[in-house]
Parts: sequence; structure tokens; C-alpha cells
Amino acid sequence: MNHHIAIAIDGPAASGKSTLARELSKRFGLTMVSSGEMYRAVTWKVLELGVDPKNPSAVIAALDGMDLECGVDGRVSTITVDGERPGAELRSEAVNRSVSTVAAIPEVRHRLVDLQRSYLGFTDVVMEGRDIGTVVFPDTPFKIYIDADADVRANRRVEMGEVDAVHDRDREDSSRKTAPLKIAEGAAILDTSKHTIESGVDAAVSLLEGQGLELRKQP
Ligand code: C5P
Repeated sequence: MNHHIAIAIDGPAASGKSTLARELSKRFGLTMVSSGEMYRAVTWKVLELGVDPKNPSAVIAALDGMDLECGVDGRVSTITVDGERPGAELRSEAVNRSVSTVAAIPEVRHRLVDLQRSYLGFTDVVMEGRDIGTVVFPDTPFKIYIDADADVRANRRVEMGEVDAVHDRDREDSSRKTAPLKIAEGAAILDTSKHTIESGVDAAVSLLEGQGLELRKQP
């Protein structure tokens, strides 16, 4: 029987998902899994191979040949593609531009969802993405849908020095047929626009406790 728990955090681009997941992971000793990194890693490899991300059958053929391995480094998830662990490349303008197109392909999602679920076989996770509460772990009682004003989100990316058309990605992610971004049934909603990191995490912890989560703070 599996006794590991999953906290699902979903929301649009730059809403604060990874910051919240990282802080919850530190506070409570959970493994933080960024599912977006997995979609980014596949997209990075597709582009490296010179495959057109807009050609689903070419992407699927490339995916079939990819050796994808997920792991953990400290308390953070890792993804290795054909023996390579991509780093800063995952947040390049080219990857930002194509990731939502690649992520809309059902075969890509199917392969990555299996890898995402495999974490629960050995660890408690706080996983962030777009379909964690709806598709990956629909049965977990611990779900947060996080959001922030559109301008606040766009500014966050600019402050990070990234070229990222967050609104275009959101439109693509919310309108695709397979696993679109939406609020999962039972999810608590948290708007981070006016929160500091600290107050946002405190608010999330209260919401999760309201959902019955009992976690012990790490020393
Ligand atoms: O979270 P992040 O912005 O890194 O995600 C990059 C992209 O990966 C998203 O815009 C979306 O297209 C895709 N994604 C997804 N499902 C997830 C996580 C990310 O489709 N669970």
C-alpha cells in the first residue's frame, strides 16, 4: 500500500507555483517536483534534434527515441534526457516559445504523467504544474490553485530576465483539448498578487490544513 502524500499546486505561468512548492518542500521535508521542467526538457531535446515542435508526429517519433529519467537531488526533482541534465537551457526564449505546443501533444503528456506519478512510489511530494490536481493526482485531498494578476505575473518574468510571453502560454495551456489548465475539483484558491513569499506560504499552509493536511515542520 502506498502511504506517500501528494500536494498538488496548479496555476498559470509565473503565478508563484515553484516558489510555493520550494518553500513547502523546505518547511515540511517533501520532495519538490516541477512538472513544467519535464515538458521543458522534452521541448529542449526536440529543438536540439532540429525537430519542428509544431509537427506532432515528428515530435512523437523523437519522443519515442528519448531516454527520460527522473530522479531527486536533495529534495528537488531532476530530469535527465539521453544521459544529459539540461540546466539554464530549460528557460531559454526558444523553449519558452515552444513548450506549450509540445505539451499539448497527448503522447507527450501520457509519458510524462507516468513519470510524475512514479515519484509517489518512494517519497512525499509537492508537485507543481497545470494538471496535477485534475489529472496526475486527482484523488489527493491537498490541492491549491494559485493565481496572480496578469501584470504581476508578466513583471515577475521580466524581473527574472526572461523573455517569456506568459499570456500566450496561458492561452495555449488553458485551451488545449488534453488536460487543459483549470481549477481542480476541491482545490483551494490562492491569489499571490499582494502576498510576500512568507505570507503566501503561510496562507497556503492554512488552506492545506483546512483540507486535512497534517505535516510536521522540519527542524
Ligand atoms: O511551469 P512551467 O512554466 O515551467 O511550465 C512550462 C510549460 O509546460 C507550461 O506553459 C505548459 O505548457 C507545460 N506544462 C503542462 N503541464 C504541466 C506543467 C507544465 O502542460 N503539468
